[in-house]
Amino acid sequence: PPQRKQRKIAIMGYRSVGKSSLTIQFVENQFVDSYDPTIENTFTKPWKVRGQDFELKLVDTAGQDEYAIFPAQHSMDMHGYVLVYSITSVQSFELLQVLLEKIMDMTGKITIPLVIVGNKTDLHRERVVSTEEGKRLADTWKASFYEVSARSHESVCEIFNRLITEMEKADGSNGNE
Ligand code: GDP
Ligand code: MG
Repeated sequence: PPQRKQRKIAIMGYRSVGKSSLTIQFVENQFVDSYDPTIENTFTKPWKVRGQDFELKLVDTAGQDEYAIFPAQHSMDMHGYVLVYSITSVQSFELLQVLLEKIMDMTGKITIPLVIVGNKTDLHRERVVSTEEGKRLADTWKASFYEVSARSHESVCEIFNRLITEMEKADGSNGNE
């Protein structure tokens, strides 16, 4: 049988933006309401994109803030990053800017597969970050952009399909297939 490609993805962002909820919704198709926010866990998910089988290792990080921005282990051997903010938190959106700069610094790569995700679209009455602001940030970093809801399973799979497509492109151009 054709081999599964192993790919490692870090899920990063401010606390409480829904990193674990998104990861668990993608891996297990369920919304877990109270997941220990201090846990860092790696989930494995078999996933097929355009006929290719992957084994995804999703590192659901415990979260970053202004003081503990980027543990060095997260720059090692990641194939791509999902950077999450909540559309209900300006602070979480502003943290992504800092996080993006750090990722570029530490990986030293000009193009690293990135998807920027605005989560919690179901809380539209509490929205404080506009779709345009999200798009603008993503454009600046040449990243893909999605607004999603882990709660209502809105556009969650699209994040990973897009990231994998970007990772495959990066692979091809780096010649390390
Ligand atoms: P993490 O700290 O980034 O891993 O965030 P969690 O996944 O633990 O979620 C933090 C809180 O936000 C929890 O109470 C979740 O139930 C809630 N939450 C996560 N995603 C969503 C979402 O899409 N919509 C709503 N309404 N709440 C969410
Ligand atoms: Mg969490």
